[in-house]
Amino acid sequence: MRQKIVAGNWKMNKVFHEAEDLVGAIANAIDDREPDCEVVICTPSVFLEMTGDYSEESQIRTGAQNVSEHESGAYTGEISAAMLDSMAIDYCIVGHSERRKYFGEKDEVLYEKAERLIENEIIPIFCIGEQLEDREAENHFKVVEAQLVNSVFKFNKDEFSNIVIAYEPVWAIGTGKTATPAQAQEMHAFIRDLIAKKYDNETAEETSILYGGSCNAENAKELFSQKDVDGGLIGGASLKANDFTKIIYSF
Ligand code: PEP
Repeated sequence: MRQKIVAGNWKMNKVFHEAEDLVGAIANAIDDREPDCEVVICTPSVFLEMTGDYSEESQIRTGAQNVSEHESGAYTGEISAAMLDSMAIDYCIVGHSERRKYFGEKDEVLYEKAERLIENEIIPIFCIGEQLEDREAENHFKVVEAQLVNSVFKFNKDEFSNIVIAYEPVWAIGTGKTATPAQAQEMHAFIRDLIAKKYDNETAEETSILYGGSCNAENAKELFSQKDVDGGLIGGASLKANDFTKIIYSF
């Protein structure tokens, strides 16, 4: 179902007491005034139990940052979708550019990860986006289309309807260089159009497409006001309760 979402991606930041302070501050801030969006925090896996407890008592939903493509077994260090499900985790990021770059995750394995999540009723936040050289060469639409075709477009319509897409131009992640609202809108409309062609208009209209890449308390409002931008996946600015809260109330 299409809905507005603000999701924080904490990446590999914070130790336990800092994580507790941060989630507590966000929960307090949003409990006073109901947000106009789903609020998700995607935390390192060691904090999921603690943040999951907040999900039970507050409006915060918890997301993981990674999942194994395997169901279970001898995969030391990995975390399965069934494990996440057993801890009441609602979302999981898949295909973040850092996973693609540093851990060599390719479209096929990302598809399998999303498949495990859907089987376990966890919503994948599936990240796609071009590199700077792709945009400079005006290949950005082709790159994004190929990422979709080689991964989530392998799902049937019912399966696909469980997925949230996050458009994250790689050149904007952690760089302070945000896509302009017009650039974000143009790509989001393109993605929605591809979904309509692959499935149908209804599926396209029902898909939440988030923007990610140096989205912050100052620029969120204008980005989120774009017709096809349904919210954001927020990295750096999700580590500060005040900034993240401002972003949540940017709709
Ligand atoms: C991200 O890592 O998903 C992200 C969008 O990071 P930042 O907001 O820091 O650019």
